[in-house]
Amino acid sequence: GSTIGLLGGGQLGRMLAQAGSAMGYRFIALDPTPEAPAGQVARQIEAAYDDREAARQLAERADVITYEFENVDAGVAAMLMAESYVPQGSHLLYTTQHRLREKRAIEAAGVQVAPYREIGNADELREAVSAFGTPCVLKTATGGYDGKGQWVIRSESEIDEAYETLSRAGTELVLEQFIAFRKEISVIAARSAQGEIKAFPPAENIHVENILHLSVVPARIEDELQRKAEELAIRIAEGLGVVGLIAVELFVTESGELYVNELAPRPHNSGHYTMEACRTSQFEQHIRAICGLPLGDPSLMTPVVMVNVLGQHVEPVLKRIACKDSGAEALGVEPKLHLYGKKDAVAKRKMGHVNVLATTVEDALQWVENTGIWEQETQAWKV
Ligand code: ATP
Ligand code: MG
Ligand code: MG
Repeated sequence: GSTIGLLGGGQLGRMLAQAGSAMGYRFIALDPTPEAPAGQVARQIEAAYDDREAARQLAERADVITYEFENVDAGVAAMLMAESYVPQGSHLLYTTQHRLREKRAIEAAGVQVAPYREIGNADELREAVSAFGTPCVLKTATGGYDGKGQWVIRSESEIDEAYETLSRAGTELVLEQFIAFRKEISVIAARSAQGEIKAFPPAENIHVENILHLSVVPARIEDELQRKAEELAIRIAEGLGVVGLIAVELFVTESGELYVNELAPRPHNSGHYTMEACRTSQFEQHIRAICGLPLGDPSLMTPVVMVNVLGQHVEPVLKRIACKDSGAEALGVEPKLHLYGKKDAVAKRKMGHVNVLATTVEDALQWVENTGIWEQETQAWKV
C-alpha cells in the first residue's frame, strides 16, 4: 500500500492514521512532540514543523501528504508541493490561515459572514466599533484558536487596551460584528480530487470557555436550516476548490439566518461524532478524498452526543465509564470512549472524547448529566 505523510501528529493525525491503517495505508507523521498521539500508531519524524530537512524526509518517504492543522509554514508547504504529492494544495492553507483572506473567499463563494472590517490602527478600530456598535469582536487575523487572540469589546472604553493587546501578536486585526446567535453549528464537507462532494449532517456545538464541550447530532434546528447549512458548506467546498475536508463553523440566528464564523481545512473536533454515528467517519472520508477514492456515505445512523474529555475529566471518566453501573443501560445509551494517548492530563487539554449513541439526543444528554463528570459545564447546554 501507499504511505501517507502527516504534517502534525496530534489527535487528528492519530485518528486519520487509525482510519487509514484499516484501509491499508501506512502513515508517517512529522511532529516535534516525543511520542505524539499519531506517533504512537504510526511512524514519526520527531522534528519542528518548519524544519526543512525533516519536511524533505517526510516528502521522500510519503506518496501523499496531508496536514492536520492549518498553520503550516508557507515555505514548507511549497517545498512539499515540489517534492511530493499534496492533493490539498497550498492555496487552501494560504486562505484559511488568515481570517481576512478566508472571509473574502467565503464571500466570493456567495456565502455570508458576519460583517467585518480590517483594522490597521486604533483610530480605524474606534470608527469601526462605532459603526458596528458594542459588543463586537476583535480578532487577530492569524494564529488564534480556542478563543485565544480575540477580545469581545463591550464598551468603547476598552478600545485602546484591546487594540494594544491584540496588536502585540504582530498580525493584522479584524473587527467583527457580534452575532446574537441562537445556536452554533458546523458542517463538514468532503470534496475529492475528482470533484465529488458530500456533506456530513450538521452538528450543534456547545462551547464552554471557548472550548468545544458538546456536539449534538442531529442539531436541534429545523430540517430546512440543516439542508441550507449543508448546501452552504458544499458551495464553499466548491468555491474554494477544496480537496479533502472543510469544516464550516456557523452561527444560526433567531430569524434563521446563517453566517459563517470560520473554516478549518481538516478533520474537526465537531466531526468526531461521525466515528460511530455515521456510515463513514470524517477521517475515512478525508483519506478517501485525498487518495482519489470514491467518497463514502456520510449519512447518520443514530442520534449521538459527542462530549470532549479534557484533562480535568479523564480520571472521573475512566472511573465512571469503566464501571458497569454507569447508567447507560437503563437509558439505552452506548458511550464509546476514545482517548488520544496523551500523558499529562493538564486541565483544559483535549485528552479524548466520548461518543454517546442513543435513541434520542435527549437520552444522550441525560446520560452526560447523570455521570456528574461535566457538572460545571452542564449549565451551558441547559440555558
Ligand atoms: P477555534 O478553537 O474554533 O478555532 P477560535 O479561537 O478560532 O476558535 P472563533 O471560532 O473565531 O475562535 O470564536 C470562538 C467563539 O467565540 C465562537 O465559537 C463563538 O462562540 C464566539 N464568537 C466568535 N466570533 C463571534 C461573533 N462575531 N459573534 C458572536 N460570537 C462570536
Ligand atoms: Mg479557529
Ligand atoms: Mg472556531
